[in-house]
Amino acid sequence: MALVGIARLASQSELLEAKRAVQYFEIPSRSILNRTKPSMPFQWTINPYRGCEFGCKYCYARYTHEFMEMDATEFEDKIYAKSAAAHLLRQELGRIDRKQHIAIGTATDPYQPAERRYERTRSILEVFARERGRYLGITTKSDLVLRDLALIREIARANVIGINLTITTLDEKLARLLEPRAPRPALRLDAVRKLSEAGIPVGVFPNPVMPGLTDGERQLDRLAKAARDAGAQWFGGGPLFLMPSAQKIFLPFLDEHFPRLAPVYRSLYQRSAYLGRDYKDQLRDRIRRIRDRYGLVSGPIDYQPELWTGEEQGELFAR
Ligand code: SF4
Repeated sequence: MALVGIARLASQSELLEAKRAVQYFEIPSRSILNRTKPSMPFQWTINPYRGCEFGCKYCYARYTHEFMEMDATEFEDKIYAKSAAAHLLRQELGRIDRKQHIAIGTATDPYQPAERRYERTRSILEVFARERGRYLGITTKSDLVLRDLALIREIARANVIGINLTITTLDEKLARLLEPRAPRPALRLDAVRKLSEAGIPVGVFPNPVMPGLTDGERQLDRLAKAARDAGAQWFGGGPLFLMPSAQKIFLPFLDEHFPRLAPVYRSLYQRSAYLGRDYKDQLRDRIRRIRDRYGLVSGPIDYQPELWTGEEQGELFAR
């Protein structure tokens, strides 16, 4: 039947924009605590989600979707909430030493949009609120962490807890390009302020530090000063680690938005996912100088995602 009227107009309309469709799944897990490699400052990690809707262009954790036979580009569109997270944690905590450190949010953001609805991170914090003498860290780019402030305060009464806010840049436009769906840097700084005012130890990490984009001394200095003014106690950063799965997204992104930097990065990361020793040393010295200027300390964890990768490989099981 021939379309008429508004139906015909609709069928002939030009597509202006197609919104991304994010799909959420629940995935069974064998365990929720993942053992890290030796020599790490934390012995266990918890990542309540696989995939992360924030979709940062440099995200190193895209490889985790490749384990599930998916393309790295699906990392931000197919989000998997781990089932029975709190139940598993209750069972597993009894088997680990109280003095061992547990880091939440090393691979994916525990306060990404899915958390508003599925509350897996919150359910995990509820378990910790009944614990004593544990060592816990949470790393996030989201001010949604403030939703759980009362719970975090409760945990802090009988355990040691620190919150790390990741802020790569204060430049809102650059942040929007690099981290398209993450909360604005100003919201993250506000979260630092509110956590600090509530007496929760908090720090800022500008990770990953990206050559030519976020590594300028003045940029990092401004960020450290803003972090200190908001009440951060620590500040530390490490250079971008760019595995092939992350290169697939990041290099075309540079071609489009920073064409002059694209060949530089191709050459820097041609042979390895790491930057060379010289750059690392320079950056470490720069950050140390800045930290000293503002009386900040280096913080509970170093940015070493290369040591964090692979920890979840054995975790999934099929029912
Ligand atoms: S917030 Fe973290 S886990 Fe999420 S996309 Fe960005 S870098 Fe990856």
